[in-house]
Amino acid sequence: MPTDQLNTDVVLGVAIPSRNARGRIARLGPVIDAILASHDYPPVIEKLLAEAVTMTALLGALLKEPQGQLTVQAQTEGGAVDLLVCDYLGGELRGYVRHDLERVAAVSEKPTLQELFGSGYLAITFDQPLANERYQGIVPLEGRSLGEAAQSYFGQSEQIPSLVRLAAEQRDGRWWAGGLLLQHLPEGEEGRERLHTRLDHPDWPHVAILGGSVKPEELTDPTLPLDDLIWRLFHEEEELRTLGSRELVKGCRCDPEYVRSVIARFPAEERRAMVGEDGVIRVDCAFCSSSFPIAPDEVA
Ligand SMILES: [Zn+2]
Repeated sequence: MPTDQLNTDVVLGVAIPSRNARGRIARLGPVIDAILASHDYPPVIEKLLAEAVTMTALLGALLKEPQGQLTVQAQTEGGAVDLLVCDYLGGELRGYVRHDLERVAAVSEKPTLQELFGSGYLAITFDQPLANERYQGIVPLEGRSLGEAAQSYFGQSEQIPSLVRLAAEQRDGRWWAGGLLLQHLPEGEEGRERLHTRLDHPDWPHVAILGGSVKPEELTDPTLPLDDLIWRLFHEEEELRTLGSRELVKGCRCDPEYVRSVIARFPAEERRAMVGEDGVIRVDCAFCSSSFPIAPDEVA
């Protein structure tokens, strides 16, 4: 849904036509709290997921199809986190982080990507069903932050000069997160359509310096509307446009019928082994922690 308020749970498109730059800016508040409320994560993991969900909102908002899906997945080895998954579909966001509690307790207060993930990679998948288009890019999880890893995704995987800034912080017990994505897309390019690859275009360093000057506390400040923040960064440009906005919500697509059909496909013997002490098979959704109890004879 488009929305008029540009303070929270919203993503806004921006363009600086004279510099051939465009992008998205997002801020999340109650949506992050709602996603985190399904889990019981330590603060370091909550911050990681808040930033990852914000990145997912920025990338998801690049999809041209309203029902396109964007999935971000970090799969890793040797770190405190071994799996992070977030996705976006039509403005709906969800995500979870599989991690080792003991190892998370041992990481520093502001952990590096290396501490959190060990070695691993970031996979980003754009799915546009109407155009029958599916594209996945994979980059190593390197750099100082998730934003830097996303930036190298665009640079390496798509050859688009890009800037990604992410921030998340807790204020009075509530989470606020924000992010900025800017891309250099010369001569009317959009999304992943590459007409020219010019990593050395003089317009880009200028935009990257101005965009890169955004402070984490500006990205997360719920009293600062996103259009005001963009204006603060780029008001000296010849032309600055805000494009459409979109409301962001928490959403999960887990489906009891689907879960039942998956369980029904297991051999009877394996299904018997899944039955818990309370006499039912319990399947939990990793994203929203919903629990689906299934009576064994229901699927026999
Ligand atoms: Zn769910």
